[in-house]
Order: sequence, then C-alpha cells, then structure tokens
Amino acid sequence: MNILVIGSGGREHALVWKLAQSPHATQMWCAPGNAGIAQELLAKNFSPVECVNINADDLPKLLAFAQEKKIELTVVGPDNPLALGVVDLFQKHGLQIWGPNQKAAQFESSKTFSQNFMEKYGISTARAGTFSDPNTAKKFAEELNGKCAVKADGLALGKGVLICANENEANKAIDEILVGKSFGAAGATIVIQEFLEGMEISLHAICDGKTAKLFPTSQDHKRALDGDKGLNTGGVGNYSPTPFLSDTELKKVGNTILNSWLRGCAEERIDFRGILFPGVILTQNGPKIIEFNARFGDPEAQVYLTRLENDLVELLNASISGTLDKVQLKWKSEASVCVVMVSGGYPGNYKKGKLIRGLDDATKLPDVKVFHAGTAKNGNEIVTNGGRVLGATALGKDLKAAQAAAYAAVEKIHFDGAQFRRDIAAKALL
Ligand code: AMP
Repeated sequence: MNILVIGSGGREHALVWKLAQSPHATQMWCAPGNAGIAQELLAKNFSPVECVNINADDLPKLLAFAQEKKIELTVVGPDNPLALGVVDLFQKHGLQIWGPNQKAAQFESSKTFSQNFMEKYGISTARAGTFSDPNTAKKFAEELNGKCAVKADGLALGKGVLICANENEANKAIDEILVGKSFGAAGATIVIQEFLEGMEISLHAICDGKTAKLFPTSQDHKRALDGDKGLNTGGVGNYSPTPFLSDTELKKVGNTILNSWLRGCAEERIDFRGILFPGVILTQNGPKIIEFNARFGDPEAQVYLTRLENDLVELLNASISGTLDKVQLKWKSEASVCVVMVSGGYPGNYKKGKLIRGLDDATKLPDVKVFHAGTAKNGNEIVTNGGRVLGATALGKDLKAAQAAAYAAVEKIHFDGAQFRRDIAAKALL
C-alpha cells in the first residue's frame, strides 16, 4: 500500500515509524517531514520513507502528489489541514484519507462550536460564555472574579488561550483579542471559561463515525520550565499511563463523555472519523472538559504509538471504513515517557541550524526511540530546525524505569542551547 503522511513534527515521526512497521506498507512519503522521518525504513521491504517538500496546508499540491503517486492511504497529523478541509478534498477525488472532515474538525477549529456542543449534549465542562463584544465579555469575566481562561475561537498556532488570575488580566486579555485583534480573524469571537483547578490529563479516542474507542490516559507538560513554571508551549513532555484515574474510573468517565458526544454527533450529522482528543481537568466536582482537539496530541502520539500493539494501517482503515466495533485496542503493559528537547529561547525566539550530536548513541539504548520534530539535514549532519527539536521516548516496565531510560537518552544528545524539563512524569511518581 502507498501511504502519505502529512506533517513534520514529532507526532508525524511517530505516525510514520508505527505505520512503517505494518506489512501493508510498501511505499511511504511524508509531506514535508523532517530529518528523522527521512531515516525510517519500511519493515516489509526496507524501502526508505521519502520526504517531499510540500507544506502541510498546501492542499492543491498535496492532492496532485497523492494522485501522481497513487496514494492508497493518506494520514493527516496536524490540525490546520483538517480545518482547511483536506479530508473533504481528497474524498471528493476518490482518495482514501484518515482524519475528520471539515465539519467534524470544528471540534478543534472553533472553540465556540465545541463549547455550545458540550452544553447542548450535557458534557461536563467549565462554566463559560461566548462573546464578540468586549464590554459584555468583561462583565462575564467580572462574575468570575477575573479567574478565567480567555480563548480565541479559531486556530491560533496553539497560542490562543490566555489564562487570567484577576480582573485586570482578564480585561487586558479580552482587549488584546477582541480589540487589538492579536489573533486576527481567529479571535473575532472568544470563549471565556471559569478557571478550573485540578490535575490536567489528556484523553484520546479513535472514532469511525459511530464507535469511539478510548486510549489509556496520558499527561502533557505544557509549561516550558520545571514545576509547571514559565511560558505555555506546544507540549514538552508526556507519559502514559497516568495514575490519576484508575482503569475503572477511566472507563466510566470515558463512556460518559463519549456516549453523549456520539449522541450529539449523530443528531448534528457529524461524521467524525479520526482521533478525538479531549483535554480534561480532574476537579473536586469531577472531570471537566476544557477543550476538544481533533487529532493526535504532540507529544501524546509519541507515547501512545510506542505502547500500541495493533497494526496502525489496519486500525486507521477500520476508522475510515466504520468497522472499529470489530477491533480491540491492544496496549503494551509497559509505561512510556517522552522528554522533548527544545531550542534555547523556545517558546520565544530561538536560533536554528545548531549541530545535533549523540543521536546514534541515544538510539542504541534499549527501548528508546528518538522522534524528530524540528530537525533538518545539512550535508551529512543533522541540525536543529525548529523550537521543539526532538522527543526522546522510552518504554519501561513502569513509569520510573521509562523515565530513567528517556533521560538516559537525553543525556547522550547535545546541541548548543538545548533545553529540556527534568521533571517529566515526576507528578506521577510523588
Ligand atoms: P487549550 O488550548 O484550551 O487546551 O488551553 C491551553 C491550556 O490552558 C490547557 O492545556 C490548560 O492548561 C489551560 N486551560 C485552558 N482552559 C482552562 C480552564 N478553563 N481552566 C484551567 N486551565 C485551562
């Protein structure tokens, strides 16, 4: 089977790596990919994965490429092409593609849509309001004593959420988005949610339009510095499973959310085939959803795909064809930990082109996989090419062992200005 993966981050490297293990994969491309993806070989015939220089949101070029190479399965990693309707476009031309269509991708591309949906179908969420007028928004923020999350409605490169501790901060955030238009059209409307206290975890479920199958729990680390300090990032570490929900609780919570969500999708005629990724806060009043994403998390994908035992080509095909009810998800009992190494200065300004040393030594360690994100080739060398550079990911018999193995890999890898958190998975081990 000819396969195309769209995207260039650590999530896409994990997708390529897992798809490459499938005996169904005979040729694979990634658009645009990265230096690590270009090193992958297919298990079936040792054919190398080829990176093609097409951006993930260049829909016409992606379509032309898929037609030229007779791609039989396209797998979409990031949110932007989904929001732009890459799935609808490919389907219109008779091509098999995995991911939610544009209507279904609204769960991520519009926070207003998601908030309204959760309220309509009784999915437990934060107290919230939707506004385009700054004065009404400020009145609502005042009711919350300014303790709130102010969110641009549309996609804003993961930066559209401002957490406020008091009324001053809330008023400033509202003005920034609605008056200053700091996120452009994506911020023409905002959602304001009460600030929820509690442990935050990630859930994922693979869906086929009628059935949704829940993954184990994982936990992201959004802040740049140890102890959840510093600026918000795209996610600089992850691990699975978490100890914060027992299997029984996870099943109960997952089913409650997913049953209402599936009922809502059926009523609204939303045909969601892909990954639903709810962000959840475990509050004193039970789990509450703060957002939905419509694709694998990054770095959630790295820990989930190292634990997943199923053939990923078969799993994604079941999601496309509506046969997930016949599939049983199988997970390795081992825990997985991913520590992301970032460029100095990230998530602010950073330099690119720094030589990365020690990758071979890290890769030789047992149970370790280094997923590349912002990397590029420069002659025979691999250099940094983004904020999040790579994710050292390791399996271990338990979280402690996986954490030690991931950090052993990190210790082997060096580049100028490299930064990483030293406390990934630490909350689980307290
Ligand atoms: P989102 O893009 O909606 O996930 O928001 C980014 C981050 O902001 C989340 O991962 C949370 O850590 C935080 N956040 C968002 N909404 C809330 C909320 N209502 N209460 C507390 N924290 C929140």
